[in-house]
Amino acid sequence: MHLSGLQIRHFRNLVDQQLDLPVEGVAIVGENAQGKTNLLEAIYYLETFRSFRGSRDDKLVAFGEEFFRVAGALVGRTPGEGVEVAAAFQVKGKKKKITLDGDEPERLSDGLGRLAAVVFSPMDVTLVSDGPGARRRYLDIVLSLNVPGYLGALQRFRQILSQRNAALRDGRMQGTVGSWDEGLVESGARVVEDRLRWVERWQEEFSAYYRRVSGTLESRLQYQPGVRLEGATDRGPIADAFRLALSESREREARLGNTVVGPQRDDLLLTVTEGDIPRDLREFGSGGQRRTAALALRLVEAATIRKARGQEPIILMDDVFAELDPGRSERILALMEEEETGQVLLTVPKESDIRLRRDSLPRWRIANGVLEW
Ligand code: ATP
Ligand code: MG
Repeated sequence: MHLSGLQIRHFRNLVDQQLDLPVEGVAIVGENAQGKTNLLEAIYYLETFRSFRGSRDDKLVAFGEEFFRVAGALVGRTPGEGVEVAAAFQVKGKKKKITLDGDEPERLSDGLGRLAAVVFSPMDVTLVSDGPGARRRYLDIVLSLNVPGYLGALQRFRQILSQRNAALRDGRMQGTVGSWDEGLVESGARVVEDRLRWVERWQEEFSAYYRRVSGTLESRLQYQPGVRLEGATDRGPIADAFRLALSESREREARLGNTVVGPQRDDLLLTVTEGDIPRDLREFGSGGQRRTAALALRLVEAATIRKARGQEPIILMDDVFAELDPGRSERILALMEEEETGQVLLTVPKESDIRLRRDSLPRWRIANGVLEW
């Protein structure tokens, strides 16, 4: 699938416009603050119905306007294959509306993931340098979009967790708190199982990508569960381990007024091995090493889409080569050229920064939120 048409209304600084995008993609050249990232943000909104920058929906509405709307026409290889995804948000009443070919799906989540896109952004380094929440968010997005049933389990888990935490905070009786346990364990075990499986499935690819880009060191991706699993890998034994961990933490959670074990405490451990010693990239990584690990996570995300959805991901690349040394950026380019990717939409501040598909991508310009070609 590729994005063939894009219609934008009142999104950030972008002027209302209708764009026809080439099947191979486009390189968008524009100075700072002209709307390059805003455009990629608008496009990726059609994948997750959220800002990839973590902005709230009302911040996306152009200053002084009441709503925004983005619509994208996706076209497949075979005639008739394709869908129009549209998303609109109205400030008043905070109303969000998603449509697929004009019809509103029963649940918003039914519309997720139609674009099959991955964003590469300089902000990705926060995946490595920020706290565990950033990496859980990454996992949750990748798994929600690619593993059927994951999002439902995660939502169930979060809802039960917040009710259970409210009961703990109020200092309610053991019996009341305990009444949430079975639901928490059941939904949480599913979340843990999917996260564990995914990491096991992709950790070698992660290391291979890191090695290719860095040219030297070994890096590893490991799952660090917030429940001691004692080797459990299937849902039943994971649930047993979770149940046991809960029963062992009764006193601590009553004291802290919070559920202290569970996937809400999960993390992904990213290490680089120097002289046989694995070191946490978050604590010890250089800027370039962290960026490389973040790139490897995005490459794994793209590979997950390829595998799970059987389609080439659309690559949205927001000026990411800028901060890598020449060796690393050459190698990542070579890798990206080799990987099977579909459409590539990339943004750069100046023409000479276009490196990926330099000879084949048409060039557009953006200034003050207006695209020109
Ligand atoms: P850089 O090269 O610096 O990353 P960019 O081209 O990616 O720049 P964007 O982040 O896309 O820039 O756009 C920034 C501009 O968008 C800023 O001038 C900002 O004031 C404007 N902007 C952000 N949100 C809104 C909004 N809700 N309404 C109108 N303009 C907005
Ligand atoms: Mg930008």
